[in-house]
Amino acid sequence: MIRKLRGANMDIDLTTPSTAISWDQARCPWNEVEGTDEHRCAVKNVSICPYFCGVEYLDQVLCCYPQEGLMQVDIRQGEEAV
Ligand code: SF4
Repeated sequence: MIRKLRGANMDIDLTTPSTAISWDQARCPWNEVEGTDEHRCAVKNVSICPYFCGVEYLDQVLCCYPQEGLMQVDIRQGEEAV
């Protein structure tokens, strides 16, 4: 059985220098376009990227850049419901 538990306080990025890790890491498409490493998927206690759509086993980020993420749609629908 796999449980889906809400509210995780995540710290996720695709910006670790290759010299600091022993596995291949994909590049963030937003960072690629802007030529930076400033964008993070999730910063613990602080924020979640607007293009972040979750994670998939084991360590894959689901990214919808450059389209609006599911979280933004949820927020907008919440605003419309008020
Ligand atoms: S969710 Fe996508 S666009 Fe946002 S920081 Fe992660 S990889 Fe980059």
